[in-house]
Amino acid sequence: MRIDVFTIFPGMLEAPLRQSLLGKAIAEDLVEVWVHDLRTFATDAHHQVDDTSFGGGPGMVMKAEPVFAAVESLDPDRGRVFLLSPAGRRLDQALVRELSTEAHLTLVCGRYEGVDERVVEGLPAEELSIGDYVLSGGEVPALVLIEAVTRLIPGVIGQQESHEQDSFSEPHLLDHPHYTRPREFREMQVPDVLLSGNHGEIEAWRREAARDKTRRNRPDLG
Ligand code: SAM
Repeated sequence: MRIDVFTIFPGMLEAPLRQSLLGKAIAEDLVEVWVHDLRTFATDAHHQVDDTSFGGGPGMVMKAEPVFAAVESLDPDRGRVFLLSPAGRRLDQALVRELSTEAHLTLVCGRYEGVDERVVEGLPAEELSIGDYVLSGGEVPALVLIEAVTRLIPGVIGQQESHEQDSFSEPHLLDHPHYTRPREFREMQVPDVLLSGNHGEIEAWRREAARDKTRRNRPDLG
């Protein structure tokens, strides 16, 4: 898979893309991530990517021209184009799974009050939100999307099953609780069944514990 990211703060993505599983996946060519500085696509002398808002009001708006020039520089192949936006479709594991099978994704990170709406209409770009809260820019949301998608690419996670049991692998179920050594910590015990060696009972306990946790933490999942 190839992912292209357009941002006015490339440095915000560079360090995280070198770390941990994501860094290893990139080093091993399981995913290719290109981070581009949007300012280089602004043609005026000051490389200005923002301007005041038509209709008035506080804050600046990111201009359409540099974003169109940036994304069109990838033609003919740009894959699905996403504009990170709190007003977009909310990212969930089903969409992450769908995107992990794409050959190419293009991500545009907004700043300021957001991006000229003609980017959505004209490129076109799909608006994508990572949750119902507002951040200052699309760089962290882009990283969230890249990490979530990359860990589903075969070979990125060592044991294939380690994401097959994660929360939301079954859409309405969270993961079960996990424990490791020591067996007792500050008078809290690891449930006996997990030490029993009885795989059938362990599986049944985990299933019920996952249901309990889902009811407790996310009753909305039903
Ligand atoms: N005025 C916009 C609104 O209320 O919908 C918020 C703009 S926000 C301050 C600036 C940029 O941060 C957005 O253009 C977007 O790229 C990014 N952003 C902020 N929150 C986000 C979220 N929850 N999901 C995805 N992108 C987000």
